[in-house]
Amino acid sequence: MKPSVPIPTEPIGSIPRPPALIERVTKTDSPDPNAEPDLAPLYEQAIRDTIERFEATGSPVVTDGEQRKYHNFATYCVHGLPNTAPDGFAIPFADGHTRRLPRLTRGPFRYGRHADGFLDVAMQYAHVPVKQAVISPSALSLMYPAESIPGYSREQFIEDLLREHETDIRGCLARGAHKVQVDFTEGRLAVKLDPSGRLLHSFIDLINLALSRFSPEARQRIGVHTCPGNDLHSTHSADVDYAELLPSLFELKAGNFYVALAGERDRRHVLGIIRKYLKPDQRVFVGVIAPGDPRVETAEEVRDRVLEAVEYIPLEQLGTTDDCGFAPFFDNTAVDRDTAFAKIQARVRGTALASDAVGGRS
Ligand SMILES: [Zn+2]
Repeated sequence: MKPSVPIPTEPIGSIPRPPALIERVTKTDSPDPNAEPDLAPLYEQAIRDTIERFEATGSPVVTDGEQRKYHNFATYCVHGLPNTAPDGFAIPFADGHTRRLPRLTRGPFRYGRHADGFLDVAMQYAHVPVKQAVISPSALSLMYPAESIPGYSREQFIEDLLREHETDIRGCLARGAHKVQVDFTEGRLAVKLDPSGRLLHSFIDLINLALSRFSPEARQRIGVHTCPGNDLHSTHSADVDYAELLPSLFELKAGNFYVALAGERDRRHVLGIIRKYLKPDQRVFVGVIAPGDPRVETAEEVRDRVLEAVEYIPLEQLGTTDDCGFAPFFDNTAVDRDTAFAKIQARVRGTALASDAVGGRS
């Protein structure tokens, strides 16, 4: 029962952007500092401040808060590509608002930028390990239109997509990312969109095709994040029972899973499913902070959530995280920066209290 190391804790990724940056980006034609040079110092200031404040929370692993992922966690790599149109797949949120992906208009499909560029900048400022989130190939697969593109088949697209995704991960691993996290928020949504489970299974197969290209050692540094979505105090798939998703999720050939849990109505139900399907070479980071809720959790609350998880998950396979990023979409200010960092500090302190309680040193 005594862990020789404290229970690991990691963030998901995004932190609300400073209001001045949001305001400036909203007013501009292009959010890219290469096109709008006066944006560069604002981004730099945002990244520097984010990492400083992240480290001040005591978080053993930090991110750049995705300050440069305009406009969101999913389209950073394809934003502004000339072969896209804005009227792509719409993600429907429970409160009625939607967020759209771009639609691919012609081949070939190439990323406009890769995530290792973000990591490079973050590592210049950070004194502790940095993790990097990348978008899943399944999310981007939704960019290919229902009617096929003449001269560029869906099969060719998938081949290009997998190569670009693999390059995204390899670049981050090579630059020394503590972990590379594949954002798979559309997993739970897939069950809602297609209750037969076919869409989910096609997503799982696609991600596994990509993960199979990595060695078992590399896959221990790769993780997958699942959540019901988090945007403007709303979710897109919280009504889908995790029992429909988690058995398939743990079929993914990844070493780590970041599972939103704090916001679940029945956490023990979810923990029971995780216990049943988690494989011996996998670690699950359970969410202990609800990022969309402006109330700051206490460290004791977090401790109790971790101890609840300890009843179900072997200690050597357990970690903690936030349920989701605090602002996966660039202009989301539902929670402000001060609140986000206070909540992260509660996660770090609460996880340390739990480590102490089960006999670990922290
Ligand atoms: Zn999420």
